[in-house]
Formats: sequence, C-alpha cells, structure tokens
Amino acid sequence: MQDQYGHLISYLRISITDRCNERCAYCMPSEFQEWLPRDQVMSYEEIHRVVSIASELGVSKIRITGGEPLTRKGIVSFIQSLSNISGINDVGISTNGTLLSKPIDDGSSAAEALFKAGVNSVNVSLDTLSAEQYTAITGRPFLAKAIEGIDAARNVGFDKVKINSVLMRGRTENELFDLVKFAKKKDILLRFIEMMPVSSKDVLNDLNFLPCGEVMNLLSQEFGRLKPLSDFKTNGPASYYSIPGRDQIIGFIGAMTNLKFCESCNKLRLTCDGKLRPCLGSHLEFDLLKEIRSGATNDELKNFIREVVLRKPKAHDFRDNYQPDRKMIAIGG
Ligand code: SAM
Ligand code: SF4
Repeated sequence: MQDQYGHLISYLRISITDRCNERCAYCMPSEFQEWLPRDQVMSYEEIHRVVSIASELGVSKIRITGGEPLTRKGIVSFIQSLSNISGINDVGISTNGTLLSKPIDDGSSAAEALFKAGVNSVNVSLDTLSAEQYTAITGRPFLAKAIEGIDAARNVGFDKVKINSVLMRGRTENELFDLVKFAKKKDILLRFIEMMPVSSKDVLNDLNFLPCGEVMNLLSQEFGRLKPLSDFKTNGPASYYSIPGRDQIIGFIGAMTNLKFCESCNKLRLTCDGKLRPCLGSHLEFDLLKEIRSGATNDELKNFIREVVLRKPKAHDFRDNYQPDRKMIAIGG
C-alpha cells in the first residue's frame, strides 16, 4: 500500500490494551484514569482478522504495544497466532519491561514465552537508572523489575532488544552518560526519544523539552564527536549515530526537531478500541472495529484500510500548535 505522498505502508503497530501497571506522567496524566470497558476493546480474534487482512495488503511487520501489553491475559498464544500469519515476518513488542522476568501462562518467564511465540524484537522503556527518578516518572517503584526484565530478554536470546528513553530536561539530562554506559554494558541498542505533545496539554512545555540535538552535543563532548550512520536502519524513524572509540550505536527519535522525521514513515496504528490511525501526530482516526462489528466482509475491510492509507497526512501536526485529545496510553505508543 502506498499513500498519496509515496509512503509505503508495511508496518502495523497494534495496541492491545489501554491498561498499565505504571503511571508515566507523559503518557497517563494523573487525573482519574478510567479504563475502557472490556467490550469496547478489540478481541484477539478481531485483531487477528485485521492483521491477516493487512498482511494481504503488504503489511509484514507488526509491533504489539499498549498500555502495557503484558498486562493482558493470553498474550503469548495470541502473539503465536499472529506470528503464524503468512506474510508477517517481523513481530515486535514494546513494554515497560517490569513483567518480562515474571512467569506467564506455562510457568516460563514472559520473555522466554514471547521468544518461543515468535517475537523477534523487544523494546523496553527506561528513562532513568535512578530508582528515585524512576518512581517519580512512572509512579511506581519498579526500576529493579524493569532491569530484571531487560536481563531476562537478553538471556533468552533476543538479538534485538532496544531501550527507549524519553528525554526530559530537569529529570534525565544528568542520566544520559549513565544510560549510554548501561546500554553498552548490556549490549543493547539505546534510543533517545523527544517528548511529544500527546496525552494532555501539560505533558510538554518549554521547560521540560530536551531536544535530541542538545543530547548529541552533550554525548559528543563526553565521548567524542558522534558520527551519523545513514545506512543503519530499524523499522521506525530513528536516526542512528556511532560513538567513536566505544563501538556503540545510539539512536535518536526526534519527532519535534527532525524535519525529515515523516519522510520514510511506513506505519499505521490500531488502537485497542479498534480505531485505525494513519499518524500518531494527527487527530485523524477511523473506526475499523465498528465496520467489523457491523458485519463487513474481508474485502470491505481491505477497502477501508486502503482508504485510511490514502488519508495518511504528509507529516505530523506536532509542530503546529497540536492540541492533544487522547492520552498516549489510549492510542498506543
Ligand atoms: N507500556 C509500554 C512501554 O512503556 O514501552 C508500551 C506503551 S508506551 C505508550 C510506548 C512508548 O511511548 C514508550 O516508550 C513511552 O516512553 C512512549 N511515550 C509515551 N508518552 C510519550 C510522550 N508524551 N512523548 C514521547 N514518548 C512517549
Ligand atoms: Fe504505561 Fe508505557 Fe504509558 Fe508508562 S509509557 S504509563 S509504562 S503505557
């Protein structure tokens, strides 16, 4: 599938729940959070059907996210069933990591069960290595569990484990070098993410925004000038740099400051309540679940998905006085 700006769509990011065991302020602002009623959340069968149809339209990569996807029961066999869909050859999961080392379903650790179910890439969110900051940012004292989860994923044999670290001035700029060293020690790819204006108006402001460019300068001063790696790519919009002398690669996801951020976008998002979103940073969303539940045929759903792709914007609206209207946790990061 190709949109009207030449973006080739091959990647579907699927939120399977809006629930989470953490409370990150930038994702789930502190006002009362009401979870979606169960019947408004897509069933695994409904998601499976969408992925099968999407695979026939050229989607080959999927990533399971949330909320915290590991809080939803039955996730392992569900992922196994997605991995078996012909045409799907890349299955990733984004998680806060805190449940990865815990036993799940058959008693093995979640990390091991996911590995066996066909997941080939695990992204763990980790913004800080300070227990105090971790608790302040996530609302939960789970730093040790998150690190245990990262270790569990590494030990099980995933070759693609990444750490995603949201940049927050006043909270994490003192942690940058430690995070880089931690990633090197664990042999994990670290990516720094600029805070985006999602969830609520208070999430991003001039005081807490820490741009990737500034972080690159700080890392260059500490470790030597970073060298851009234009040929190094993962599935998303990250730009990668090598750190001379450290044999280490660092990624930067700069939705706010990288003016080329949207050029190679290959993604659609499916929210857990069945809305298809052509872009995270646009309010456009289309109710696929309503079509499914009103009896649409596979061909009708295919046409619906194609129409959504044609409505994909050229670029996100984040730099254009974007006013958040859905929490990140309800969209799926
Ligand atoms: N619970 C999982 C996790 O934390 O990785 C998956 C869902 S979470 C919404 C996915 C990603 O979105 C996380 O890496 C999180 O840091 C990121 N995220 C959430 N709110 C954000 C914001 N306002 N700006 C930038 N990234 C954000
Ligand atoms: Fe939960 Fe992930 Fe959102 Fe944090 S970023 S509240 S861990 S869904």
